[in-house]
Amino acid sequence: MKHYVYADNAATTEIDIGAFDIMKSFLLNNYGNPSQPYLLSRTPKKAVKEARQCIAECIGANSDEIFFTSGGTESDNWAIKGTAFFMDKNKNIITSEIEHHAILNSCLSLEKMGYSVLYLQPDKNGVITPKELESKITNQTKFVSVMLANNEIGTIQPIKELCEIAHKHNALFHTDAVQAVGHINIDVKDLGIDLLSSSAHKFNGAKGTGFLYIKNGTEMHSFIDGGSQESDLRAGTENVAGIVCMATALKNNILQLDKNQKYVKKLETKLLSLLEKDGLNYIRNGGENTLPGLISLSFPGFDGEAILHCMDLMGIAISTGSACDSKRKKVSHVLKAINLDEKVAKGTIRISLGKNNTEEHIERIANSLAKILIKQ
Ligand code: PLP
Repeated sequence: MKHYVYADNAATTEIDIGAFDIMKSFLLNNYGNPSQPYLLSRTPKKAVKEARQCIAECIGANSDEIFFTSGGTESDNWAIKGTAFFMDKNKNIITSEIEHHAILNSCLSLEKMGYSVLYLQPDKNGVITPKELESKITNQTKFVSVMLANNEIGTIQPIKELCEIAHKHNALFHTDAVQAVGHINIDVKDLGIDLLSSSAHKFNGAKGTGFLYIKNGTEMHSFIDGGSQESDLRAGTENVAGIVCMATALKNNILQLDKNQKYVKKLETKLLSLLEKDGLNYIRNGGENTLPGLISLSFPGFDGEAILHCMDLMGIAISTGSACDSKRKKVSHVLKAINLDEKVAKGTIRISLGKNNTEEHIERIANSLAKILIKQ
């Protein structure tokens, strides 16, 4: 895979090699169950404790506010259902039309059980405005969930303002920060949020590990029942290797955050200027304030899926909508929600760059797109 260009970092990321080495030692040597009292379990137990502290520091939380899960999907399900199952059904839930399916399908299940869910509409750039939330929230609202950054078009949301509105109405505020953690600066105390979902494999950790931040004092119920792990709130033997790997990968990303952001932004600017130089006619989706490196481009008159396959044949991995959506052969719900014309939406690709991409990769992506879209 030496010459392969991986530009789908919003789908998943390459594992941090240092984090992988540490992970290995917890699979091969220190494999004791952290709940047991004997010697072999002491190192794993300590490692889980230190990982919790490390992750908390990376997002400005306290260590007892971090709860380990199996990833972003579980964290989202837990946040929303762990609240809904114990709330008065006369109360409602508010989310946005552009959330990941981990939230949208959780809401759909809740609606089938008789809960009321209201959906916020984004503006044309994918922004959920405070005005939009003000127009739908009432004192009947118990829970508001708006993602920190969108996985298809990269739009970063005004979370602090949205959270203030939710709290004015005594509603809890959750944010799905799966695409944002490890890529932009996040301070949960500054944002004021009650709950935050995250997933390790989006920031160079291993797949199948994540966490839910639960602010101290927030009423939250168990969603997976069983043993007494995670302070009786999330049962199941801890994925020690995954947790340790996640903490190391996150710490390494946070230590290099400014440098990585600047570097990825530079690659992004270079790519767009090469596309312009080649005379490619594109629309950039997502507005001004997007995640570094997440580039949603629409090429009117073309087919995004065909572009993806041509790029794949040229040794380059990109995406159409979001990876979780690629099996559903219809226009993405996000592009629909921002009112993109269907013909334009069909010609949309997502290039998501990461810290491991190089200038040479950018040149290859631009050249290949030009070959596919003009010089064919
Ligand atoms: N939320 C967002 C915004 C995502 O982009 C994803 C994955 O793409 C998820 C949730 C699901 O995370 P996981 O793959 O860890 O289940």
